[in-house]
Amino acid sequence: MVSRVIPVDPFDLVIFGGTGDLARRKILPGLYRRMASGQMPKEARIIGAARSELDRAGYQQMVKEAIEEFGDPRHKSDVAGVGDFLERLDYVAIDAKGEGGWPELKGLMRDGVVKAFYFSVGPSLFGDLAERLKSHGIAGDDARIVVEKPFGHDLGSARALNASLAAHFEEHQIYRIDHYLGKETVQNLMAVRFGNMLFEPLWNSQYVDHIQITVAETVGVGGRGSYYDKSGAMRDMVQNHLMQLLCLIAMEPPAKFDPDAVRDEKLKVIRALDEVDPHHIVRGQYDKGPDGPGYRDDVEDARSRTESYVAMKVGISNWRWAGTPFYLRTGKRLRARASEIAVVFKDTPHSIFGPEAGLHRNILTIRLQPNEGMELGVTIKEPGPGGMRLMDVPLDMSFADALGPDAEDVPDAYERLIMDVIRGNQTLFMRGDEVEAAWAWTDPIIQGWIDRHDVPKPYDAGSSGPDDALALMHRDGRKWRDIKV
Ligand code: NAP
Repeated sequence: MVSRVIPVDPFDLVIFGGTGDLARRKILPGLYRRMASGQMPKEARIIGAARSELDRAGYQQMVKEAIEEFGDPRHKSDVAGVGDFLERLDYVAIDAKGEGGWPELKGLMRDGVVKAFYFSVGPSLFGDLAERLKSHGIAGDDARIVVEKPFGHDLGSARALNASLAAHFEEHQIYRIDHYLGKETVQNLMAVRFGNMLFEPLWNSQYVDHIQITVAETVGVGGRGSYYDKSGAMRDMVQNHLMQLLCLIAMEPPAKFDPDAVRDEKLKVIRALDEVDPHHIVRGQYDKGPDGPGYRDDVEDARSRTESYVAMKVGISNWRWAGTPFYLRTGKRLRARASEIAVVFKDTPHSIFGPEAGLHRNILTIRLQPNEGMELGVTIKEPGPGGMRLMDVPLDMSFADALGPDAEDVPDAYERLIMDVIRGNQTLFMRGDEVEAAWAWTDPIIQGWIDRHDVPKPYDAGSSGPDDALALMHRDGRKWRDIKV
């Protein structure tokens, strides 16, 4: 069952880019769900801000339509509830690069409530917004700002972005979102690791053979082609989402579940990552399939060398993990949509049952999507006569089953993270030094591809990725887990 909802403090949340795709699809419907769950107090206010010349009624209408299109099906027909939510909305027409609208915004902000500013705009506007919030006296020392990915496209640009924010705000005011960290299972991973006696003693290279992290998507680049083609899977997925998952799996137990203790441990993992051998990375690009165009058609560049798939073997040089490889893979237009982490334990040192009984490794699988949950494969005797033959059975904990009807009330990643901003809890947000360290590790890999004029390997849309990715595991006597459809 879902624990009791505790309302957050009253707040003014300004969404710069409040008319954009992210605001309409995720942020505003998510906030509405938080209101419906009772987490948002009556005094909470949300102010949309963008260049479009809308008045308050026009913005309310736009948000109503966004909730109808993207909101939780259970709530969107609740006319009174939606009306109550819309009453909390306001709108200011503002240009991040101009001076118009700022005095109006200042006039709308109230004293004595939490003030948060969500930068749901392109990163090139972060510095302008930060500067004007300060120069117009809108954001004080207690204000919080929320910034979206991509946080830079390399180390230099990430440093510049950090500097443009640090010129006006302290690190404790800056919330860098990686929505993977807001997922229920990702936090559960910490609960499982540090809340049980069972796993932590085995959580090291002595007992763990290897770890696989998979984020597979069925969709292609779709309408994001022009952005994606300048980015690729390494920048778009590995540098942030997969890196964050790797950190949570590999980090040492922090002394406390507090923001800096957790982020210090994650940073140590990134700094202990080995330089990646170019032979241990496979880049891929999806080809035309029966049900859709190829990557190069999608981005309208017949010679694009951007990768839509990456698989890699990564080592961590520290006492806990030396000798245990981490295999990461992510890609678009694959055969199934699945995100999971699999911790594959070593064989037992000796089988008392003899070779004919069969041997099964314990695998702990943490599923992020679909069907969030965890599964532990354990070996038991195959039931019935026929001697001692062993089989693998899953101890399966799916959140939907465990929570029953309450599962629908679990906040999604964006909702949880926005509420954390209001509560002032940075644990699930990336710190500036973490982001820079991740780019410092990623940059040489990308530069190596550029220097070698690397061309990604084609793979069939709807497949499991390029054959070379299979070979990456086979060479080590291992195999990828099936991406289940
Ligand atoms: P979008 O649909 O293009 O929306 C951009 C928003 O910014 C619009 O509301 C736009 O409104 C406003 N804007 C643009 N220039 C402005 C200016 N000079 N001053 C004030 N407002 C301005 O983009 P999006 O997809 O919502 O993405 C927003 C950010 O989130 C980007 O950094 C993106 O990379 C990131 N992100 C998006 C998603 C997603 O699913 N969409 C996921 C992860 C991260 P006006 O044109 O009316 O000014």
